[in-house]
Amino acid sequence: MLEVQDLHAGYGLVEVLHGLTFQVPKGQVVTLIGSNGAGKTTTMRALSGMIRPRSGSIRLNGKDIAGLESHDVAREGLAHSPEGRRVFPTLTVEDNLTLGAFPRLTGSRPKGDISADRDRAFALFPRLKERRSQLAGTLSGGEQQMLAMGRALMLKPEILLLDEPSMGLAPKLVEEVFRIIRQLKEEKVTMLLVEQFAMAALGVADHAYVLENGRIRFQGPAAQLKNDPAVKAAYLGGH
Ligand code: ATP
Repeated sequence: MLEVQDLHAGYGLVEVLHGLTFQVPKGQVVTLIGSNGAGKTTTMRALSGMIRPRSGSIRLNGKDIAGLESHDVAREGLAHSPEGRRVFPTLTVEDNLTLGAFPRLTGSRPKGDISADRDRAFALFPRLKERRSQLAGTLSGGEQQMLAMGRALMLKPEILLLDEPSMGLAPKLVEEVFRIIRQLKEEKVTMLLVEQFAMAALGVADHAYVLENGRIRFQGPAAQLKNDPAVKAAYLGGH
């Protein structure tokens, strides 16, 4: 369970998030929607320690992780698959996956069987299995995106943050990404999702928050927001 209370964060002197309060209950999928620049990516960055929150609390299973460095946040079990394709280009697919499990080995969480988890990632992403020895930098954009997701999953996270997992992908691969998100949901992986395809995100999510200028404007069950005419007109572009 992730509980965010009155979170303020930004860059330099500019505050972008003006006091966000929201929750991601265990086993659920929550989506943040909102127009460009609303603060979705900034929220993800503040949660994962990529930027330091100014104030507020971020509790993961009761423990306040606000202000921890990102590697310590990962050790607590929060995995972030960031916007863009953040893989280690000069390492193989397999080594990229293995590195995803690293924070788990140094933290207090169960260490588990890494090679079994890698096999599970390969089962989820068969393309990665075919290319397990290939250098990550030579993968296609879509494959790198999948590797970034696979690597985040190797943490066996308490919560998985997915920032625009379908960005830049061909329509068929977008479908594939959503199929995987659905499968993870069935496996009860707790997720916070930001997606350009807001309708698709609302289709898979349990609950949604609408962000506007760094503040939560609406929230509710995803199915309800999906059919709300005001939300549709303002944020969903009629899709
Ligand atoms: P999008 O849908 O376009 O990705 P978003 O909701 O994810 O938008 P953010 O990326 O969180 O929005 O940006 C929120 C605000 O913070 C914007 O005004 C943006 O210009 C600003 N911002 C983002 N990153 C930085 C940065 N590294 N330095 C300074 N300002 C930034």
